[in-house]
Amino acid sequence: MTNRTFTMIKPDAVENGHIGGILEKITSAGFKIVAMKYTQLSTRDAQAFYAVHSERPFYGELVEFMSRGPIVAAILEKDNAVEDFRALIGATNPAEAAEGTIRKLFATNIAENAVHGSDSDENAAIEGAFHFSGREIY
Ligand code: ATP
Ligand code: MG
Repeated sequence: MTNRTFTMIKPDAVENGHIGGILEKITSAGFKIVAMKYTQLSTRDAQAFYAVHSERPFYGELVEFMSRGPIVAAILEKDNAVEDFRALIGATNPAEAAEGTIRKLFATNIAENAVHGSDSDENAAIEGAFHFSGREIY
């Protein structure tokens, strides 16, 4: 277990004005923001970031969605960060997400689901390094 995870506030949540609400949920849950930036993924960035899903039927839609507007990318620190953050964001499909979770509160549908959360310590490290250099992490 490491104590860091990586998140993105996705384009739908940015468009819908939920950056502040989502950051409030994250910090209230005890996560410390150790790196953060407002940025936009290129098509190529989104393809690379979600390469693990390249064979899935929704891959094209996912790449288009994730690159269509700005996002907030952040590295978060807390004990048991990966698992606790997945619990905080809730199920991939907001219709199935528990009450009070970020996706229940802020997501639109299974495709446009407001936030990303790393699914393992290994991926948290890879995804954090995709967006941040060492000197951008505090
Ligand atoms: P994320 O990796 O973004 O945190 P997740 O781990 O809950 O989400 P994954 O299975 O990794 O879910 O899917 C990655 C993303 O692909 C989802 O968050 C969603 O944006 C999109 N996605 C997943 N399933 C579908 C689907 N059936 N139809 C359309 N888009 C989907
Ligand atoms: Mg995932």
